[in-house]
Amino acid sequence: MTLKDNHGRPLLNLRVAITRRCNLRCQYCHMEGEETIPENSMDEMTVDEIVRIVRIAVELGISKVKLTGGEPLMRKDVLEIVKGIAALPGLRDLSMTTNGTMLASLAQELHASGLKRVNVSFPTLDKEVYNKLTGGRLEGVSEGIRAAVNVGFYPVKLNMIVLKGVNDYAVPEIIDFARETGTILQLIELEPINISDEYYSAYHKSMDEYEDMLRQKAVTVETRQYMQNRLIYHLPDAKVEVIHPTENMEFCMNCTRLRLTSDGKLKPCLMRNDNLVNVIKAVRNGADDRELIKLFELANQRRQPYN
Ligand code: SAM
Repeated sequence: MTLKDNHGRPLLNLRVAITRRCNLRCQYCHMEGEETIPENSMDEMTVDEIVRIVRIAVELGISKVKLTGGEPLMRKDVLEIVKGIAALPGLRDLSMTTNGTMLASLAQELHASGLKRVNVSFPTLDKEVYNKLTGGRLEGVSEGIRAAVNVGFYPVKLNMIVLKGVNDYAVPEIIDFARETGTILQLIELEPINISDEYYSAYHKSMDEYEDMLRQKAVTVETRQYMQNRLIYHLPDAKVEVIHPTENMEFCMNCTRLRLTSDGKLKPCLMRNDNLVNVIKAVRNGADDRELIKLFELANQRRQPYN
């Protein structure tokens, strides 16, 4: 069984923010499109609550789940969350997007708990630029990436948000780093969410020049049909994926995703907060599974391609 929205788009993925807390302060952070309220001003969902909500999602045909945040590794019980979700029958893929700063010490246990793969935010190879952009130290992140590859996560992806005049020149060297570490590079276009207009116009960089360069070098180009029709460029010895949502109707038309916010709301679109469905309230009021299914169906009906 797979739910489809009013535009015929299947619902296959759930992106779960398990916390709003983060140990970095990335200048560009869109905070997964969540409403901006202070980090410590609300309760996080418990392990049981998260696993129950994800179980309903999986029973409704969602087969791929990604954990995000905030920084998901900030949660002391992250291994319990991973174990609980990984054990759900019907789940095909459980992954995490992380800033990687705590990954070196946790990679082994995360893998043993059932996490299949990780995406690590990796905007630059330059320590100073990294510190300026995020407030953190790059060294721990490179270690985390190598640890993730070594324990067997596959694939490990590097999420490089491309910022004009900051790291845009460094794409070739990060392709080399991806090749050397056996990871896949994802070039991500800056999205104007939870950042100022000034920041966006100063640093937004079009993906066109990279796509032109990659098209010329690629041996083959693959389309990820159920991932917003994103393109993966297979270079002779590296893979580069381009995430290009802005003014890209195809991106939205091929979106198969729903989000669960860190405060327990189903979020049909990264860009909007006027159509959320409060699922945690129902859980805490004692709703049975049928009521939760109805809330998922409602959120699915509210999915709408941007136009
Ligand atoms: N802390 C984790 C991390 O760093 O991956 C998870 C949260 S972070 C918000 C998730 C992803 O969103 C990262 O890959 C990051 O590069 C991406 N991201 C953050 N702000 C963005 C923006 N304004 N536009 C596009 N992608 C963004």
